[in-house]
Amino acid sequence: MGKVYDVGIIGGGISGSVTALQLANSGVDTILLEQKDSLVNGPPFCHLHAGGNLYPDISDDQCKLLMKQSIEMSRLFPQSIDKRPTLITVPKTEKLEPDQIERRLKMLVQHYKKLIEEEKDNSVLGEAKDYYKIYYRDELDSLKEKPKVDNPQSVDDWMVNAIKVIDYHKLKMPIFMVQEYGWNMFRLAAQAQLALESAEYCELKTNTTVTLIEDVRNKYLDYNWKLHTKNSVYKVKYLVNSSGYKTGSIDKSLKLNPKRLIEFKAAYVSKWDNSHGMLPEIIFHGERGTPNGMAQLTPYYGNYFQIHGMTDEITLFKGGLVRRTTNDGVPDFNDDILKKLNDGWEQNEVNSRTERAINFIARFIPLFKDASVAGPPLFGAQQIVGTDSRLRVGEVSFPEKFYARSEIIKASSALTVARKIVNNVQRNNNSTLVAKESYKNSLINSIKKVDIERNSKTIALRRGFPEEMANLLVK
Ligand SMILES: Cc1cc2nc3c(=O)[nH]c(=O)nc-3n(C[C@H](O)[C@H](O)[C@H](O)COP(=O)(O)OP(=O)(O)OC[C@H]3O[C@@H](n4cnc5c(N)ncnc54)[C@H](O)[C@@H]3O)c2cc1C
Repeated sequence: MGKVYDVGIIGGGISGSVTALQLANSGVDTILLEQKDSLVNGPPFCHLHAGGNLYPDISDDQCKLLMKQSIEMSRLFPQSIDKRPTLITVPKTEKLEPDQIERRLKMLVQHYKKLIEEEKDNSVLGEAKDYYKIYYRDELDSLKEKPKVDNPQSVDDWMVNAIKVIDYHKLKMPIFMVQEYGWNMFRLAAQAQLALESAEYCELKTNTTVTLIEDVRNKYLDYNWKLHTKNSVYKVKYLVNSSGYKTGSIDKSLKLNPKRLIEFKAAYVSKWDNSHGMLPEIIFHGERGTPNGMAQLTPYYGNYFQIHGMTDEITLFKGGLVRRTTNDGVPDFNDDILKKLNDGWEQNEVNSRTERAINFIARFIPLFKDASVAGPPLFGAQQIVGTDSRLRVGEVSFPEKFYARSEIIKASSALTVARKIVNNVQRNNNSTLVAKESYKNSLINSIKKVDIERNSKTIALRRGFPEEMANLLVK
């Protein structure tokens, strides 16, 4: 006969993994099928978008949602959050004005206050009044003269270190230090993997590709879907499609065809022996897709730095954003991008793109020209639901009975999606499950810090990255 699972999840990225953790924590019999050898091994994440301040062109509503969802995820996975701020600046060459950034920050302070009023434990970004701080040239001149700070405690400490290396005469004033934190993917991957491996109610199958979905909903069986893999068939009552940019392939086998975009992007790993002290994340705003696109420098432990440069020559790619053009619901990339996704990168392109990224940052941090290539790129493809490439918050849809389709665009949406799926499973499976309080997942909390430390280093090394990148910058 074979076992019947309450829920079958296809894809163990952050979305599928968090959904599996929430279901298993509520005692729902779940199977998670992931084609790779480990979880959370798809497109990367390094920044907790707690306010959307990297995206001046999105709506206030998206910024508020990003803040709320980021707070939720950092409550669920505090061990993966790097509590260092982000410095937001606008180069003089840009049309964007600092006023526009300040208006949004004021709005976000009010929103954050409200979130804390709703629940005191939402105050993970510190006090609302300290959500951001503004700096003008005079203050920067005097902070620059102070000695470097080895263990920055206040935003001024972080600014002392940052302003020593930035050529701030190229920037519009004021500039802003904001409580948007770092987010360590290796640590989250380790915690999710360990928690699911030990979960009583979740069977985890890595190295397992779902090749076909059979819809048996009209056959009046005690299950609704048959998930075929090379060697087995799994029977499930409820199907969750968390297959990331491959969502369309699963939809296709269900004869669904919604509009979506897929996008391929990459960030680069460099090492810079900076002697001026720990840096915050630094953003130099710029118009995406132009030669002056946004530059993002993300600090990791051990003087490693991740770089995004929003130009076609660095993070973005020609043919990297694909709209659905055919009628089969499965947009696809050109051969060059598919080769990167399926077989990896040529070393000479790793070097040339990383070196370009280093020079891109050196326009504003001249000493950064001495940085060197220090690892493979962090890259991947993601989906964007609908047709608006500027959308930054996607969630989940339930286009058919017993079927959920995760459509996240930022990793921070994973818990919102999981919570909605738990509720929908409860309604559809006529289950008596009682969804547990979503921030307190005993499976996640049962994993010891020392095991996260050890396993996240192993994951980083196995994926070709320096093991130091698995450490938090701020202990
Ligand atoms: C360069 C870059 C930087 C980014 N930076 C950030 C950031 O700083 N902050 C942030 O919040 N977000 C960031 N994102 C977005 C974030 O990475 C994605 O939103 C998130 O990882 C998507 O998670 P997911 O679980 O939906 O999809 P994925 O992580 O793609 O997971 C889908 C999984 O499904 C598996 N799968 C697919 N088909 C099958 C099948 N048939 N059978 C079995 N398994 C299958 C895949 O192997 C994969 O593991 C970034 C994205 C990129 C590309």
